[in-house]
Amino acid sequence: MITNEQRAELIAAACEARRRAYAPYSNYAVGAALLADDGRIFTGANVENASYGLSMCAERTAVFSMVAAGAQEFRAIAICTANAGSPCGACRQVMTEFAGDVPVYMVDEEGNGRDATLHTLLPDHFGPEHLTK
Ligand SMILES: [Zn+2]
Repeated sequence: MITNEQRAELIAAACEARRRAYAPYSNYAVGAALLADDGRIFTGANVENASYGLSMCAERTAVFSMVAAGAQEFRAIAICTANAGSPCGACRQVMTEFAGDVPVYMVDEEGNGRDATLHTLLPDHFGPEHLTK
């Protein structure tokens, strides 16, 4: 269960991370912050490249930072954009590897937006269980 305080902390961390985005090509800055099972918060920002296809999303940056730091599951994620946009399909898939049907808070810089859950954003997702049957 995520408390209102935890939700607010994640949103604030996501919007702070957004200010560190490197998005000179799309001008669509994104910040993400997730709460790992061990209580730590990991953040990410989108990082673009002149070779566009090498760009990386904020959400995956946060997930990969979590894994690199030794945690492998998260309990909620906040995503901050200019217009409370949704995570892309690739990020939805990556998130399902490391979380159950967790809350996803999509907000703008004022914290306005909408809440969803990961499995409503990506129903019937591919998972590790499909590799063993
Ligand atoms: Zn993405």
